[in-house]
Amino acid sequence: MNSLRKELDLMVYDIIGFDLDGTLLRYDLFEMSMLIYDALKQYLVENKNYPPELLEQKLDMDFLQKGLMLDGSRGNILKLSNEASILRASHGTRRLSDEEIVAIYGNERRWDVATAFCNDPLSTWNGPASNQMRTLLDYFDMPSAMVFAQAVDIVDKDEGGGGRRDYKVWPDLLDALMHNYTRDNFANDQSLYFKAMRAEPQRYVLPSSGKLLEWLQQLRAMGKKTFLLTGSNIDFANLTATHALGPDWQHQFDFIGTYAKKPGFFTQQRPFLRVDEEAKQELPGSEISLQTDLQAGHIYSQGNWHQLHQTMAKLLGKDASNARALYFGDNIIQDIYTPVKHRDFDTVAIAEELFLLEQSDYQFRSVLNSKFWDSYFISGNTPTIWSGFIANYAQLCVSSMDQIAQKSPQERFICTNVNGFYPAPPEQLEYSNLTSSWHGGNVGA
Ligand SMILES: [Mg+2]
Repeated sequence: MNSLRKELDLMVYDIIGFDLDGTLLRYDLFEMSMLIYDALKQYLVENKNYPPELLEQKLDMDFLQKGLMLDGSRGNILKLSNEASILRASHGTRRLSDEEIVAIYGNERRWDVATAFCNDPLSTWNGPASNQMRTLLDYFDMPSAMVFAQAVDIVDKDEGGGGRRDYKVWPDLLDALMHNYTRDNFANDQSLYFKAMRAEPQRYVLPSSGKLLEWLQQLRAMGKKTFLLTGSNIDFANLTATHALGPDWQHQFDFIGTYAKKPGFFTQQRPFLRVDEEAKQELPGSEISLQTDLQAGHIYSQGNWHQLHQTMAKLLGKDASNARALYFGDNIIQDIYTPVKHRDFDTVAIAEELFLLEQSDYQFRSVLNSKFWDSYFISGNTPTIWSGFIANYAQLCVSSMDQIAQKSPQERFICTNVNGFYPAPPEQLEYSNLTSSWHGGNVGA
């Protein structure tokens, strides 16, 4: 199998879609992490009666990593292998020894909730498992590990730790995250996070390259239908996209879907709602029937993939089953796993962590590099759960959209490794093959 490789040929797709945050739009990860960390702590102290000493704690960037899993009731943080065993763990901020991991999770180093997530991530998305566990899948979630760990330390100091299974920190932190990101709190200025973003977007959002904007236009000039699909509500998406892509961002795509509620967007049949494009608001009561075509050039809210796919296929003069779609995204479950596993997309994963291998002067090295947790992709010689998902569900994994946009859309990307890391995999993954349940196409010899 090691002679197999993956490739990406944009010309075989009719429809090309993009996530916004962390994909077309990059953040200053240092400023963003500080902002989110401070906002979450402040919420816990002001609204959940955590002692003010929580505010005195400092953010240790080395403790942050995308993709960690919180075991809420035990107060633990876990890093998982591609087979769902626990590679590393902490209780609060204290790293657990191998003996401690085995004492808590058994010789197999497994937690049943984590195993269920690994086998079927959507089964644990809502419902009881989501009250015990959270996977920190993107840079909006990533700083919550530090807040969680420091809050657990404080609870232990006040009330004692030692094998408890009733920590309430996670539900409190979930409320803090909801408060930060609930869409109403942008309009009403109640969230410290949104308030800071609105006051100084240029501090947090990096401008996209001219090359990327040019490449987006080339795709459309070649007859591809393009769409932007974001979980952000239209008002916040407009703020960030204006800073990254320019004031004319809306006209860079054939369709724009906001407040999309991924991964449900891909799997369910929720109606689209219209958006007042001047006022940047979803129009209440404007649900569009599931059988109606959408109109190109417009911004929508909520919705579902089936209807968007049908609409674009018609514009292409094709049957939807022949209108092939590619999606670019950074959230491995929402953007990569779900559209590939549950729909017939191909996907490209964006992982800024690849910059750590590619650029010695990568500007957010201090944020993404972690001695505490080891690499996002591999720990020792064991691939992480995320390398496994990338290998099995992504056509390619690159550090940024600029990596793709530096070539003409007609040029193919040929991977030297079957796992799909481009231009090169982390050294230890060079000769491994993680694609035992590969779901895409185009793996050639
Ligand atoms: Mg994203």
